[in-house]
Amino acid sequence: MLNLVLFGPPGAGKGTQSEKLIARYSLVHLSTGDILRSEVANQTTLGIEAKKLMDQGLLVPDAVVIGMIESRLEQHKDGKGFIFDGFPRTTAQAEALDALLKRHNTAITCMLALEVPDEELIRRLLNRGKESGRADDQDEKVIAKRIVEYNAKTAPLKQYYSQQQKFHGIQGLGTIDEIFQSLTTQIDRYPA
Ligand code: AMP
Repeated sequence: MLNLVLFGPPGAGKGTQSEKLIARYSLVHLSTGDILRSEVANQTTLGIEAKKLMDQGLLVPDAVVIGMIESRLEQHKDGKGFIFDGFPRTTAQAEALDALLKRHNTAITCMLALEVPDEELIRRLLNRGKESGRADDQDEKVIAKRIVEYNAKTAPLKQYYSQQQKFHGIQGLGTIDEIFQSLTTQIDRYPA
């Protein structure tokens, strides 16, 4: 199985590159943010509780997201692999993910982190805000806070995957195809 963790700050191009990676390698996309948003939309008990935290920009408890991932791993255990997006976000989640995958006789292949200078992220997000009307993409202060938050939260995970020699920083500047090429070059270094 090919199991990728894709990381990147807001505006790094994670969504675009995720779609291309899923198509190239036939992976199942698991985004905890998307799953939580659908729970909120369906007004499930989990969704109602999670919304209170999400509205404040706080993380949902580890046990909740780990449980969500566990059930989906089970559903797709015969697939070619997964792309984890927005998960793990804490060391506890990364450890739980390793344990879950081990139970399925597989493991994380690598973590790919898209790296883009802060000024470029701010420029891209402000542009996206103009086009999409998304409130959190229109205020430079909010954007800056999200970038700082991302950096603070990612640091321990970078260390976690570096210790396993699975962390790869990927330059997130250039055209969509150039960045995709850098990602696939790295992925293809691992045995299929
Ligand atoms: P995202 O779309 O990945 O930015 O996630 C939106 C919100 O969902 C986050 O701000 C958190 O409140 C929650 N969330 C998503 N993924 C996780 C996770 N792995 N751990 C905890 N909370 C999460």
